[in-house]
This record gives sequence, structure tokens and C-alpha cells, in this order.
Amino acid sequence: GAEPVVRAPRHADVAALLPRPAAESDKYRRGVVGIAAGSGRYPGAAVLAVAGALRGGAGAVRYAGSAAGAVVARFPETLVTEGPPGDAGRVQAWVAGPGLGDGPDARRAVREVLASDVPVLLDADALGLADAGQVRERTAPTLLTPHAGEAARLLGRAREEVEAARLASVRELARRYGATVLLKGSTTLVAPAQGPEGEPVLANPTGTGWLATAGSGDVLSGLTGSLLAAGLTAPDAAAAGAYLHGLAGRRAAPLVSALDVADALRPVWRDLA
Ligand code: AMP
Ligand code: MG
Repeated sequence: GAEPVVRAPRHADVAALLPRPAAESDKYRRGVVGIAAGSGRYPGAAVLAVAGALRGGAGAVRYAGSAAGAVVARFPETLVTEGPPGDAGRVQAWVAGPGLGDGPDARRAVREVLASDVPVLLDADALGLADAGQVRERTAPTLLTPHAGEAARLLGRAREEVEAARLASVRELARRYGATVLLKGSTTLVAPAQGPEGEPVLANPTGTGWLATAGSGDVLSGLTGSLLAAGLTAPDAAAAGAYLHGLAGRRAAPLVSALDVADALRPVWRDLA
């Protein structure tokens, strides 16, 4: 057909997607994003995902997991519980995975967020723990955000094969999981959950090598989850998340570490909105 296979989101389109509080907004109407991330071994991933979520336009961030102490020490505005996601209060979207590990608590967290009726973003450790059948059967949207290595594991292939066929790989994952898939990399791709016709894949134009730093993916997952909680569709949240994340990396450069990306989201957003 006439539809291009790949296209880049335009600056004005992304700007139009950014959630802005109405005069009569309250924090619940702006959206509450839940973060199920971190573990005794990787508490920092939870802090970074929360940092991204706080800069994504939702009205509140709720954290559920064992890194609650580290999270609230760095970001006192976070609502925290040490328990599993199922025991946390109501949220409008869940982010699960960064630093979660693969123990019983991690498995339970992934199962519980997938059992919820709200949009779910799965990243990092949650990707390997999620059952494709459970993802396909969800009625609310699911968004997967693997890098090439994680995508390769899900597809049962070598990383090099995914790198050599990124477009086919992201589409295949979207089809297998019935989910929107954001494949991270120097050019991040977003494939919407495939309808019968198939929609074009988005290629993010804002990336920068300065984002190749530990924890930057955790910031992206929180940011994108916050956009989901604010009401964006999964493909829109993924496209806008990758776009803002790239601009923030450029804004923070040179010598970027992950929290710098979260900090740079504010001036980036101010210029876009
Ligand atoms: P992760 O692999 O989960 O830590 O995520 C890394 C983040 O940095 C993703 O958003 C990638 O798209 C981004 N990234 C990594 N390397 C590059 C690169 N060379 N150019 C642009 N973005 C990159
Ligand atoms: Mg990662």
C-alpha cells in the first residue's frame, strides 16, 4: 500500500501529545503511575525509573517493592509501599522490570501487574518473566521495551541476528505478544501492536550516543510509563518517550549519567510544550 514501512515522528506531533494539566486538574486526574522495580541487589534501578516517571507528566508516582527506602530518600514525593504491586493503591499504568531480578518477588510483581486492568510497560528483567500468553490475553495495552539483547532472548535468537534485522525483529515481537514494542538502540524503533493491516514502525530521530550509559533505559521506562498513566496510547507514549529521552540526552551532553537525563527532561519539555 501507500503506507510507509518506517516513519519518524515529527517535533510538532510529539509536542501535541505532551500532557498538560488543565486548570481544574488534580493529581489523580493527571494520572498515577506505579513502578515495580529494583531489588536488594539493584536498588538504583528503582530510583532511576522513579526519576523518569516524576518527569513524565503524571500527577503522582507510586512505588511498590523492596527499594522503597532508597526511592523515598532520593525522591520524597514518591508514594511508597514495601509490598507487592497488588497491595499498592490504584494506578493508571504500571512499569515493571528495571533491576527487579528474577526471584519469587520479581515473578509475583510481573504476574500481578499483568493481571491488572491498566496499561503495563515491561522492561529489563520483567521481559524474561512475562508469559506471552498472559500478555496476549490482556485487554489493557501492554508495551515492551527491550534492548537488542533482551529482544534476542525473547525471540530465541542471537543478539547479532536481531541487530542485523531490527525492523523485522520489532514487528515479530509485536505480533507474538500482541503488544506495542519499543526496541532500544542507536535508532530506537516502535512497532504498534499489529492490527490486520500492520501499522508503520516509528524510528526515533533524537538519539545520541551519550545515552549509552548505565541506567538510562530505566529512566526511559519510568518516563514512558508516566505518559501512559497520563492517558497516551501505548504507541504514542513509546514514541514520545523515546523522543523526549533522546532530546534530554542531547541537552545533558557531554558526559551524561542517567540521572542527568531525567533532570534534562524539564528544560526539554519547557521548550516543546
Ligand atoms: P538500556 O539498554 O536499557 O540501558 O537503555 C539504553 C538507552 O540508551 C536506550 O534508550 C537506548 O536507545 C539508548 N542508547 C544506547 N546506546 C545508544 C546510542 N549509541 N545512540 C543512541 N541511543 C542509545
Ligand atoms: Mg535496561
